[in-house]
This record gives sequence, structure tokens and C-alpha cells, in this order.
Amino acid sequence: MGSFEICTLASGSKGNCTYIKCGDTAIIVDEGLTVKELKLRAALRGIDLEKVSSVLVTHEHSDHIKGVAQFSKEFGAKVYMPLTCFETMRSRGEIISAYEHVDGFEAGFDIGDMRIVPFRLPHDARYTVGYRITDGKTDIAIATDLGFVSDNTLSKLSGCKAVILESNHDKLMLEKGRYPYPLKVRIASKNGHLSNADSAAVASQLVASGAERLLLAHLSEDNNTPELAFEATKEQLDKHGIREGEDVLLDIAYQYRPSEIIRL
Ligand SMILES: [Zn+2]
Ligand SMILES: [Zn+2]
Repeated sequence: MGSFEICTLASGSKGNCTYIKCGDTAIIVDEGLTVKELKLRAALRGIDLEKVSSVLVTHEHSDHIKGVAQFSKEFGAKVYMPLTCFETMRSRGEIISAYEHVDGFEAGFDIGDMRIVPFRLPHDARYTVGYRITDGKTDIAIATDLGFVSDNTLSKLSGCKAVILESNHDKLMLEKGRYPYPLKVRIASKNGHLSNADSAAVASQLVASGAERLLLAHLSEDNNTPELAFEATKEQLDKHGIREGEDVLLDIAYQYRPSEIIRL
């Protein structure tokens, strides 16, 4: 009997949402889809959104918050996020009546059977976090929207059985692509997004520390392909003698369709 169920319902700059269930507790991380679209995708995987008690928000970019207020209202879900994120949303007129203010947010808090520990990520929002989640036996983590993997980030991802990690762009595709120069600089910066190479560089350490599932997420539609992201990480795993498909399962989180449900 597994302890966690994980499903990325959407991943990328057009909307993000990850469903996580542990015991009787179900949550989502981010809601950047319309609620209507989210319902369709959840139905494809047999996910009951009525059981989702809470929403964790990573940061205030619209691909992570677009549907948060509506979802919270419709499903009566509590919303947890950094205070700065709440303030930004409120200043834009987004009403989150079920916002859960947590004193010492970064120290962590409990939702049902899960212990949630946010950790700060380097990204160009006011305040961006990833989340490490544990039921006391198994740990998982999600880190998308980060410019680089700091020592702190790596320590927060280490020891997790499943890690959802950004693998945003292929450096060459970004360089040669159609984006305006300032946007290229922003994406490649230390407060931008992780390249395939950046993500691949830490994959072997994550597996050595216990990761059995790696889910590459937030892939750019313009500057990446699922094949390039997959191969970049697989190549690094190969170099370290780690066999994809045996020592670890590597998957891609997609923009337009839900992932399979990962069961741990
Ligand atoms: Zn994003
Ligand atoms: Zn972002």
C-alpha cells in the first residue's frame, strides 16, 4: 500500500497544477488553469477534486495562480502561500477568502497527514518557494521556476523518493530561438528558469540520495522538446552508472495533458 499519489495535471508557462494525495489528504500545488480545464484533466485520471482540501501556491506568476481564487471558492479549499504572494494577489483584486496565514511559513506546517516545508527558490517573482512534503516515512518535493540549483535547494530535494524538477530549456534552442534578447537573458539568469543541463547536473545526486522517480517539469514549448530534456538527464545518469528504467524512472510533465499517476 503506497503512501503518495502524484499527478501533474499541467506543467509549463501556460499553466501549472500538481495533484498530491497522501492517506486521506489531497492537495494541489498551484492552479494555473481555468477550473473548467482542471476538472476535465482531473476526470481523465479519475481524480476527485472534491476531496482536495488545500492549495499550495509557489509564487504569484499567472501560470501558477490563474485559477486559485476560483478553485478555492468553488471547492472550499484553503490556500497556503507566502505572504508576499497573498499581498500581490490582493493588490490585483484577486480575492482569496480562504487564505491560511501561517506564522513562520518557511518553518513548515501540517495539512492532514502531510507535513509541508516550503523552501525559497531563486526566481524573478517577489518570493518563490518549492515544497517538500512528507508523511513521516516518505518525502517528495516539487521545485519549478528557479534560476539555478543552490546548495539549499539541493539539500531540500535530497532524500526525496520523488522529485518534480524544472527542466525548462535547451540552452542552444533558447540562444538561437525567436525570443527577444532581454527575455532570453531573463530566462537564462540566476533568477530565471533551469536549463536541461542545470537539471541534469543534479539528477545523479538526487538518485544517490534516494530518488526513485524524477519528473522533469515546466518545459518551454519554444525552447525545448521532451526528447531533449529527457536525453540530457538520461545522459548524465548514464555517466554516473545509473540506469534509467531500473535504478530510477524518469518522466516528463506535459503542458496539455496530465501525467500518469505516480504511486509511491
Ligand atoms: Zn512558471
Ligand atoms: Zn514563474
